[in-house]
Amino acid sequence: MPSANLIERLASLRQDYLSRLPGELAIVADLARRLTNSTEDHATLKELHFRLHSIVGSSGTFGLTALSTECRRLEQRAKAWQEDAATRPAPGDYQAFIDAIAALPGLSVAPDPAVNNTNLAPADSPVPHTDSLPLWLVEPDTALAHDLQRQLQSFGYDVRCFHSLKDARAAANTSLPEILLLELPPESGEYPREAEARLRIGFSAIKCPILILANSNDFDSRARAVRIGADDFFPKPLEVPRLINRMAQLVAQRRSPKLRVLIVDDDTTLADHYRLTLLAAGMEADILQQPRDLIAKLAAFNPELVLMDLYMPEHSGPELAGVIRQHERWTSLPIIYLSAETNLDLQIEALRRGADDFITKPIADASLVALVRARIDRGRQIDTLITRDSLTGLLRHASIKEAASIEMKRAARSGRPLSVAIVDIDHFKKVNDTHGHATGDVVITATANLLRQRLRQSDIIGRYGGEEFLIVLPECSNADAEHLLNDVRQRFATIQFGRSGDEFSCTLSAGVASLDACGQELLSAADAALYQAKAGGRNKICVAQKSAPDVGPDT
Ligand code: GH3
Ligand code: MG
Ligand code: MG
Repeated sequence: MPSANLIERLASLRQDYLSRLPGELAIVADLARRLTNSTEDHATLKELHFRLHSIVGSSGTFGLTALSTECRRLEQRAKAWQEDAATRPAPGDYQAFIDAIAALPGLSVAPDPAVNNTNLAPADSPVPHTDSLPLWLVEPDTALAHDLQRQLQSFGYDVRCFHSLKDARAAANTSLPEILLLELPPESGEYPREAEARLRIGFSAIKCPILILANSNDFDSRARAVRIGADDFFPKPLEVPRLINRMAQLVAQRRSPKLRVLIVDDDTTLADHYRLTLLAAGMEADILQQPRDLIAKLAAFNPELVLMDLYMPEHSGPELAGVIRQHERWTSLPIIYLSAETNLDLQIEALRRGADDFITKPIADASLVALVRARIDRGRQIDTLITRDSLTGLLRHASIKEAASIEMKRAARSGRPLSVAIVDIDHFKKVNDTHGHATGDVVITATANLLRQRLRQSDIIGRYGGEEFLIVLPECSNADAEHLLNDVRQRFATIQFGRSGDEFSCTLSAGVASLDACGQELLSAADAALYQAKAGGRNKICVAQKSAPDVGPDT
């Protein structure tokens, strides 16, 4: 739910608007009274059109639907007369128009404050990035539970085992997990069928992902898992790497940063209203104050979507959209026009100038939030497809290299520490040869997940090559990086791969290099250190030492 504070601010914004509205309607009525039904009216009609147009959007947004609808009708009339000065309306029509404007205050009855601001609940609250994630495992098979606990711990989960759901429920009074692994409760007995659907309610505070471990893989069991509200289903014998991969995905989703929206609208009350509405839905939102600052604002705020008004006094929306599109970095930034304009031709023309969609004002807050969220989520998905490796979900070679180069420049400017590491699985060819390529893929995925688990959110990880990973560690010294990689190395060696009876484990080696020791040749220094680790027997971390100062050629 949005915080009480935000709801109060939204309410006070509406109150402000309502108190300013009579003044605005008086100006409009005044303008209307000046009309003479002659060609002299052109300027007055133009101003009337502009003011009515803006009331359409603002009054509708603040819940005055009848006023908004009537203003839309009058606005269109004013526009038609203004554009076609040759055909004068019948005097009766003109008078009716003036009377209708005079009657507008009657339509501005206080809106129902509950009309808007519903369903603004943010998506699941983000998971704090802690050292180890609390995971609850409800599994009556003690041997399996024990084995699973050991494996999950090496991926950084803080595993707590429960023999039955009843025990877990009791524990939920004092603490809660971030992930729940649950053996599918039997149909009858301790958990009758009707209780299943309410399982989540029994754990009402649990909003975390639930993964079902099931003894059978039939359709009924899968359907029951869905009724419980499970996020995924894993039949036994468990494919542990797939389970871990899925958990990493679910955690990453909940940890993803807030959606960022930039609002461009000259109506400051309305812009504020949109901003607070998006904030209440758990997003980040900012308003562009000066059109001239547009590009600087984009660079500083890095929005994932722009909500753009169509008509603004200094620069129109399409003009600003055009400026945005002149910058390569922003060519795919979604721009959505938010305008009271209903003329389809004008909408299409605006879209032609580099925008992605057109929303007609007024729009219900919940619809705006849903639309913005859907747009950005889709954008993120596409971005993931482009920059991420499909097997591991890590950055691809080009993207991680680019990230490394950006961080190197940043660290060089700020004088802050920076380290990189290249990690490579030992004798990986043998894994493929002995256990098959598919199992090899599992090992690669597990390595990626372990790295994701152990590294901080500010660290950047990429798949550098087949079974090779590049890690960029800002604010991290040589020694810290070595310590971290050694921890990863030790945990990796404890992971059991393969089916039961045919288990095996792997090791990895890494080369570490830091900016202060190696300068801009960081990547090749890390590569050389990796080579050293391999030559030194593998299952090893080597750190690149300060290169010897350049000695000039002998003379
Ligand atoms: P070293 O300890 O020296 O690193 O030996 P290695 O066998 O791990 O190294 P090498 O570079 O000789 O072999 C890497 C192998 O990784 C070769 C390639 O077939 C395999 N490989 C590369 N990409 C993938 C992949 O996506 N999936 C699988 N299963 N194997 C891959
Ligand atoms: Mg290797
Ligand atoms: Mg290799």
